[in-house]
Amino acid sequence: MVGNSIPAPGHSESSSVDLDRETLVLHGGEVAIALRRDIREATARLLSCGGRLPRLVTVNTSGNPAAAAYRRSIVKTLERVGLSHESLDLSDDADNDDLRDHLERLCADATVTGVLVLMPLPAHLSGDVVNDALDPMKDVDGITPANAGRLHLGLPCLAPSTPQGGVLLLDHYGIPIEGAHAVVVGRSNVVGKPLSALLLRRHATVTICHSKTPDLERFTRQADIVAIATGTPRWLNRSHIRPGATVLDFGINVVNDKVVGDADYADLLGHAGAITPVPGGTGPVTALVLARNTVAAGFAQLGGTMDSLASPFDELVCPI
Ligand code: NDP
Repeated sequence: MVGNSIPAPGHSESSSVDLDRETLVLHGGEVAIALRRDIREATARLLSCGGRLPRLVTVNTSGNPAAAAYRRSIVKTLERVGLSHESLDLSDDADNDDLRDHLERLCADATVTGVLVLMPLPAHLSGDVVNDALDPMKDVDGITPANAGRLHLGLPCLAPSTPQGGVLLLDHYGIPIEGAHAVVVGRSNVVGKPLSALLLRRHATVTICHSKTPDLERFTRQADIVAIATGTPRWLNRSHIRPGATVLDFGINVVNDKVVGDADYADLLGHAGAITPVPGGTGPVTALVLARNTVAAGFAQLGGTMDSLASPFDELVCPI
């Protein structure tokens, strides 16, 4: 196990069992170092078995500041691991047909390895167009029905970056998944559902909660791992979890110009066994997993079929 184990503020030896507990902070930066090395090595293998330098195209359809910020982080991340990036910005008057044309053109271009449509889409554009037009072999954030279906069926696929990053954090810090009871709060297609599938693939017992779950604490208090992705700032607190449980916080919320998670980090320190901070936990890993997925797509494109894809977390090797 690596990383910092920090004592809860103001908690002393003479406190109660609960207050004596130290909380391991799961830093995304630690995982990022290992991921950068993994991506560079995999890229070298891809080039040596006849692949191209992976190139990701990000498509922005709106002036949304979160989308722009995510693209900046992707560009920086790809540059640092030596992968190629291109930006495509659709004009405000682009309609669904334009979006489809652009995506089909990019997917037909052999020099493009991966395509990511930045979210959210403006109201006049349809997510169905993205799902239809994106080639699953270039769908590096695993949003298409083909990839989502294969993830749930336990088949090789490109899985969404954010939940993969969460699982990598658990692995990096040696937090057991197999046999653990994981409660995932949130059932979105980008975080909650794929995270549940990934944890299930890793033999956790998984419970999914959402806004219509009555008495949600009844579930979260039983969990060894609580993953939260609700978009409700600082919502999960020590009353929701048992002492020593691990908290994976995917939330990114801006409150009074400060980025905070969906968990109340300060309250959970000294109660949780381990927790991801926000910022600095799951966030820094997401863009790197996207980069790794782009390399995975490069390998699979050499093989030519979705069965040439690696399973999430497997080593990326030449399929031919
Ligand atoms: P969505 O709004 O798509 O989904 C939120 C989910 O949380 C829904 O399933 C909703 O339930 C559930 N929910 C909302 N409020 C409650 C509540 N009070 N109790 C129980 N369940 C609740 O959000 P996303 O999944 O896209 O994002 C969630 C968070 O993760 C956000 O903070 C977002 O910024 C962040 N995020 C972080 C990323 C990263 O890289 N770390 C990437 C993507 C998102 P229902 O389905 O019933 O409506």
